[in-house]
Amino acid sequence: MSAPRLEIRLDHLHHNARSLKRQLAARGIAITGVSKASLGLPEIVRTWAAAGIASIGEPRIETIEALIAAGITTPMLLIRSPMLSQVQRVVAHASSSCNSEPVVLRALAAAALDQGRRHGVLLMVELGDLREGILPADLEAVAQLTLEQPGLRLLGIGTNLGCQHGIAADPRNMAELSALANALERRFSLRLEIVSGGNSSNLPWLAAGHPPGRINHLRLGEALLLGREPLSRSALSGLHTDAISLVAEVIEAKDKPGQPWGQRGRTSFAPVATPAQRQPGLRQPGLRQRALLALGIQDVDPAGLTPPAGIAIVGASSDHLVIEADHPLAVGDELRFGLDYSALLRAMTSPFIERRCLQGNAHQGSTAQAGSLRGRRPRTPERQSGRLSPSGSPG
Ligand SMILES: *Cc1c(COP(=O)(O)O)cnc(C)c1O
Repeated sequence: MSAPRLEIRLDHLHHNARSLKRQLAARGIAITGVSKASLGLPEIVRTWAAAGIASIGEPRIETIEALIAAGITTPMLLIRSPMLSQVQRVVAHASSSCNSEPVVLRALAAAALDQGRRHGVLLMVELGDLREGILPADLEAVAQLTLEQPGLRLLGIGTNLGCQHGIAADPRNMAELSALANALERRFSLRLEIVSGGNSSNLPWLAAGHPPGRINHLRLGEALLLGREPLSRSALSGLHTDAISLVAEVIEAKDKPGQPWGQRGRTSFAPVATPAQRQPGLRQPGLRQRALLALGIQDVDPAGLTPPAGIAIVGASSDHLVIEADHPLAVGDELRFGLDYSALLRAMTSPFIERRCLQGNAHQGSTAQAGSLRGRRPRTPERQSGRLSPSGSPG
């Protein structure tokens, strides 16, 4: 098998989607699956569809076009405000989009009329995280503008928290969104189909048992892919956190002194490992097993990798990951790392990393990229240091 490679357990992703769908449906909340950290990998989107996820959200129209070209028929929501230069493509391929700019809404409306379509609009409201959104005081005017355009259909309102300043969904801001929905409905005598409360960072608010109010929709990426909520990075109960892992290969393994020698200047890259990731106990004086992996900052955000037990990441440069181990390693060994959202996003964009989709068994996979089924020599299990299914993961 080629390395480095992302191993994507579709059965685990299916479990996460089914489980979240069931839990949220019980609270009256529908899910749009946000596949952006996988760059819209069709296998993942198909898995979600099979698990009952009824719409897909993507920030880039290029991804939506690629998913449609791959035969995906699930309705697509563009979750980033459309570029003015792309409104024709947005109307042609996305059934709806998130919006906060009147000038864009007018351009979408014109493009929709051009193409004889009606484009769905979710108006995003700013509730404190200071990324996208219309200020609440301006919402009514923008809703009115949307309603006046024959090419547009006002689907509802939404908000996005957690992404820019880590602002959490709480009873106050969620109640404000509900109140805004109620006010719009009264003002224009209509019923909003969607009140989209946010993303994976809304899950702790829901789990705390707060009533959802008018919120009937969430856009979920990280929770589905990595089984975690973003604000505290804590695992969500009953979900797989290891559905996607990264396998890299050892290209040098030697006992080396613990400290560098010679005159010191600056290095090309900032130090990588966050304190939490360093495993103390490995840093004894004297020789230690040091190894290089064929994986670098070009491929992944090293600070977002979780090494297997007995391994610490001590540095990274463009093409090398430097590790220390409390056990001997050999050239050719493979090591399996967990990923956070940032590491996953970067790994998915690396042209050097194979994406290998697996259905429950490591050796029955299919590669996501056509023609990359190189060298399917199965490795013996004892040389594979990570396990596919850590104990404690759900069934
Ligand atoms: C990325 C994104 C999401 C999904 O966020 P997760 O934290 O991965 O669930 C939802 N909505 C918008 C607007 C986004 O940009």
